[in-house]
Amino acid sequence: MNERSKVIIIGGGFGGLSAAQALKSAPVDVTVIDRRNYHLFQPLLYQVATGSLSPGEIAAPIRGVLGRQKNTRVLLGDVEDIDPVAKRVLLADGASFEYDSLIVAAGSQTSYYGHDEWQKWAPGLKSVEEATTLRHKILYAFEVAERIADPTLRRAWLTFTIVGAGPTGVELAGAIAEIARQTLRHDFRSIDPKDAQIILLDASPRVLMAFPEDLAHKAVLSLAKLGVQTKMGTMVHEVTRDGISYQANGSTQTVSTKTVIWAGGVTVSPLAKTLAQRTGAETDRGGRIKVGPDLTVANFPDIFVVGDMAFSINKHGQPLQGVAQVAMQGGTYAAKAIVRKVKGKPKAAPFNYFDKGNLAVIGRAAAVANVFGVHLWGLPAWIVWAFIHLAYIVEFQSRLLVFIQWAIQDLTFSRGARLITGLAPTDFNFNHAVAAEERAVKPAVEKKSEPAVA
Ligand SMILES: Cc1cc2nc3c(=O)[nH]c(=O)nc-3n(C[C@H](O)[C@H](O)[C@H](O)COP(=O)(O)OP(=O)(O)OC[C@H]3O[C@@H](n4cnc5c(N)ncnc54)[C@H](O)[C@@H]3O)c2cc1C
Repeated sequence: MNERSKVIIIGGGFGGLSAAQALKSAPVDVTVIDRRNYHLFQPLLYQVATGSLSPGEIAAPIRGVLGRQKNTRVLLGDVEDIDPVAKRVLLADGASFEYDSLIVAAGSQTSYYGHDEWQKWAPGLKSVEEATTLRHKILYAFEVAERIADPTLRRAWLTFTIVGAGPTGVELAGAIAEIARQTLRHDFRSIDPKDAQIILLDASPRVLMAFPEDLAHKAVLSLAKLGVQTKMGTMVHEVTRDGISYQANGSTQTVSTKTVIWAGGVTVSPLAKTLAQRTGAETDRGGRIKVGPDLTVANFPDIFVVGDMAFSINKHGQPLQGVAQVAMQGGTYAAKAIVRKVKGKPKAAPFNYFDKGNLAVIGRAAAVANVFGVHLWGLPAWIVWAFIHLAYIVEFQSRLLVFIQWAIQDLTFSRGARLITGLAPTDFNFNHAVAAEERAVKPAVEKKSEPAVA
């Protein structure tokens, strides 16, 4: 009896999971390898970072999602290398697996554009860990501000700066503004959370560059309504523990801010570099692997690259964005191409991305949406946004939980997952933070008015 064809999928994200699901009934043996044991619904990460949702509501164990798929096994492992000649995938723990066809969908990671030292003070939003770190940082800032007497320092703790005005930056800015203006409005005694300053920076001339101009304008109006200041055309120069400096209109300006969030961009996963070296594949400036119209690597028809790791173009020759839909459609296409090959059918037509549009939410019942070329904003856009996001969450149980959380939140403005958990990555020990800040401003602080430090 002939051995069944072996398909390895690296990554259980949007691209990898779609590919695996499309191979459900195929006469192949599928192995999905991911270094995490869960699929993460990244579009809702900002809601974990801002206390609306808990990590478990937006992540699903890959093993559980594919559990009923008899031809598929799931392995937890970090792929370190690929040998395209021997057709083997090598893991960091020394194991190696043979493939007949390979789908690489290892995604992307936060890019600090050569300034990785900023990461310490400006965490990104790409993983559950980063989302909970941000949640910690945001909520902690209000806690410290409540206990600091000096108005200048208080201001710095109550200033939140988001770098990057794409959908993630806009969504974060809107959500932090809602926390300050609504969620926390009754919770503090020494500070008024409404005094929080939320600043959104970007080097681009406008917010939401991937959206039509009229929708970007609507988004700016919605943000302004929430009290978010947008500063476009600003190039970040430095990020430190105490603030951020940027260049705008030829001059350098500094903002004292204790919370900087990096929503500034992504670069490919390190595996892309390795794959490019091993296959001699061309990459774009961001390191994405240039794939052909059939999403394979030049000279390696058995290696497909999909999602954020791939540089592919649409029928008009324009590069495809790093979004979930591109990854999902790419994964499904690669799977179907493999099935055709295994069944001895002629090659499929080139990959043709079907662009359904773009969505970004700004706040409660406020969003912008470009759906099939129809421009929506406000409540109608929010309804479309909510419906689509619920539809794409992989597990029914999570869908239901997210729906309930949103309903409660919209009626009460509360955020159920407003917990400060774990330790923040920097010197965020509470007493130390307050004491150090107070020392730093001596003698400006009046001892009498200082709240007691526990
Ligand atoms: C905060 C945020 C918000 C977003 N919002 C939206 C949105 O609203 N709409 C939208 O369309 N897109 C959005 N995106 C983009 C979207 O999430 C990505 O385009 C999509 O996840 C890309 O899919 P992928 O399969 O290429 O990678 P991913 O979904 O990132 O999956 C990659 C997988 O590979 C695994 N992996 C990586 N390296 C290795 C390795 N060496 N070994 C084993 N496993 C590995 C990872 O653990 C991960 O599970 C957002 C992204 C972020 C970060």
